[in-house]
Amino acid sequence: MNSTTTSAIETTAPPVTMHKLLTGQRALVTGANSGIGKAVAIALGQAGADVVINYVDDDAAATAVVEEIKKSGTRAYAHKADVSSEDQVAAMFARMMQEFGTVDILVSNAGLQRDSAFHEMTLAQWNKVLNVNLTGQFLCARAAVREFLRRGVVPSVSSAAGKIICMSSVHQEIPWGGHVNYASSKGGIKLLMESMAQELAPKRIRVNAIAPGAIRTPINTAAWQTKEAYDSLMTLVPYGRIGEPEDIARAAVWLASDHSDYVVGTTLFVDGGMTLYPGFATGG
Ligand code: NAD
Repeated sequence: MNSTTTSAIETTAPPVTMHKLLTGQRALVTGANSGIGKAVAIALGQAGADVVINYVDDDAAATAVVEEIKKSGTRAYAHKADVSSEDQVAAMFARMMQEFGTVDILVSNAGLQRDSAFHEMTLAQWNKVLNVNLTGQFLCARAAVREFLRRGVVPSVSSAAGKIICMSSVHQEIPWGGHVNYASSKGGIKLLMESMAQELAPKRIRVNAIAPGAIRTPINTAAWQTKEAYDSLMTLVPYGRIGEPEDIARAAVWLASDHSDYVVGTTLFVDGGMTLYPGFATGG
């Protein structure tokens, strides 16, 4: 490790072979031109899916993800839309129906932080985080479910009529001072996901969530970029390494595939043990 920064480090996730678990399926990933969403979109492509890359800014980054996915031999295009806008979400799904015919997999990943001490938090900061992180998941899931219900199960494609993966966070469980808007949005995702899963399972729609721990992406650069920050972060991670976007992407491929057909309404924690109360490992 460089003495001052970890940013030049190659991935710490072990190499794996990506199997074609999603051949013929069509996926939409929100917030897919950066960090976790980008890795998920590329992995879905490597697993054989056609992928829509949703993004809200940075056209060049979105185009780069599209080009990377096309190397897998599947189709991909980028679609700019704010997931908190009902009209823009409707237009995004309408285009997907035209381009790909349907949707089989939604990965609702777009999210952001607007951190503040609680007493100084503005309503704008609160609303922005809830609108993107929670309402955005509602709007995208509703659009996907309408299509899943219209189409139903196509056994040659998947044993489910559709799969939704909600990107949550360990902060759906761990309270987070200085970030109450973010923690509230992720706590909301937990019950949004579980309630949808309960209601929609009889229609053979599987809804699950992934709760990442500390993953090396632009959203949390301050937590890992210097050696001091990284070492401090590791006191919270029993497994002793930071998470990589690929760690989340591999979980997403499995949850989207028929290999997880009986997994319904579950949150898969991919966190190196962060939710195991590491402070109690030697005391308490
Ligand atoms: P990131 O900042 O790299 O990516 C966030 C993505 O969301 C970007 O592509 C951004 O453009 C997009 N986005 C933001 N607002 C949007 C909007 N209105 N409409 C559409 N897209 C929008 O961060 P990341 O770490 O990759 O975060 C992805 C998800 O993972 C988020 O939901 C985040 O809360 C969650 N998460 C991340 C970590 C972590 O440690 N990195 C941990 C737990 C959960």
